[in-house]
Amino acid sequence: MKYRLLFQFFILFFTCNSIAQNGISSVALKGATLYDGNGESIQNAVIIINNDKITHVGNSETEIPENTQIIDVSGKYIMPGLVDAHIHFFQTGFFDSRPDAADLRDSIPLEEVIKYQKNNPERYYQSYLRSGITAVYDVGDYMWTLDFQKNNDMNPLAPHTASAGRLITPAPEQMIGIFDVNGESTFVHLGSEEQGRNAVRENSKAGTTGIKIWGFSPGDEEFLKNINAVAEEIKNQDNKMIAHATNLSEAKMAMKLGAELLVHSVEDTLIDDEFIQLMKANKTIYNPTIVVARGYYNTFKAVLGEDFVIDDQNQVVDSKTRHMLENAAEFRKILSEERVEAMEGGLETMDEGLKKRKKNMLANLKKVYDEGGTIVVGTDAGNPGTLHGISYYNEIEAMQEAGIPPSDLIVMATRNGALAMERLDDFGTLEAGKIADLIVLEKDPSANISNLRSISHVMRKGILRNVRDAEDFKN
Ligand SMILES: [Zn+2]
Repeated sequence: MKYRLLFQFFILFFTCNSIAQNGISSVALKGATLYDGNGESIQNAVIIINNDKITHVGNSETEIPENTQIIDVSGKYIMPGLVDAHIHFFQTGFFDSRPDAADLRDSIPLEEVIKYQKNNPERYYQSYLRSGITAVYDVGDYMWTLDFQKNNDMNPLAPHTASAGRLITPAPEQMIGIFDVNGESTFVHLGSEEQGRNAVRENSKAGTTGIKIWGFSPGDEEFLKNINAVAEEIKNQDNKMIAHATNLSEAKMAMKLGAELLVHSVEDTLIDDEFIQLMKANKTIYNPTIVVARGYYNTFKAVLGEDFVIDDQNQVVDSKTRHMLENAAEFRKILSEERVEAMEGGLETMDEGLKKRKKNMLANLKKVYDEGGTIVVGTDAGNPGTLHGISYYNEIEAMQEAGIPPSDLIVMATRNGALAMERLDDFGTLEAGKIADLIVLEKDPSANISNLRSISHVMRKGILRNVRDAEDFKN
């Protein structure tokens, strides 16, 4: 109760911007077990925050300066804000943004969907923050996400955002053209060296964090020539290659070209020594995205009439997304008879395929872990069935299932994510000088990573908010 009152008091200070008037310059969270994101922990910790920065992290012997608001968080757990290292703001979590998977455009025009995504990211910001995620990496999207990258750092109601902008792909123009709306696209076709170089230059000039290559074709001479030019231009521009390469041969090709971030597991087979060597030589970061494919399966089933389960105890999923998924079966009549039949007929095969792929993904993740690779947590949120914010828990639980100890998952979820975003100097760990982004949990995440679900508060930019209270995230 005392904590609650103090907390409300604290919130009042910040929301009224009245710290200075009240003579209070800083805040200390005292008594929790603290995980710093580097792999260390402190019992009975004291963390001092001045405005939006961490000024001190120490144990119970820390001297707390005068005029510091002390908040007793004894018995709780503190760790850095989580980083989702793989999301897409243009995607809604349903098929309306993925006509390539199930075409609903006759009833919901893609132009409208994308326009809405561009103009209303706040609902996702809230879902992210209230899930404990204080930074997200959009690894492929329309160029308007660069505005989010630019603006979100200063916004305490948004997660830090990095954006890779448009993806470069060898996929045929008629296939990617489906995403050309409102005069923009998420893809640039890689049809020549010049096309590739221009895309890299334009993205880099716009300030993208990385250049994402979607699809690799080992053995295709034409592709090889073009992608070599792209790889060279990425180096010229001092940018980095991000790769969507889900087969072993493609992933190895990507790393030979210098890929520094693999945004998916290798899922067709078990990785080999050459893969490990390339990964080490390049210091390539590995993002497994284990649950996203199952999300498609669940969403197909929802369209065919089964309930879509949204495991959302704090009600952080926005009403639009919720409504869409809860009424997914309504969209069945919009789809062609052939599409519905194909969906129904394909479910069993899809289920079997998913099980096999998951087995490979878990084994490969464990291998990368055992070999000392750098691993991040990224959900691919926005894809059908993978909801912004809450899907993070499912993803990290799947990583735990692979055999990674929760104490190491904490580092992957925080420090490594910030590293992938090239923002480790600013956040990702709890250290003096870093931005005050952290979460407060009721249960110990190092005992079981599912305890991330026991989140009670999130601090972003020095402002602590109660994740169970949507009103707390209004201003
Ligand atoms: Zn993705």
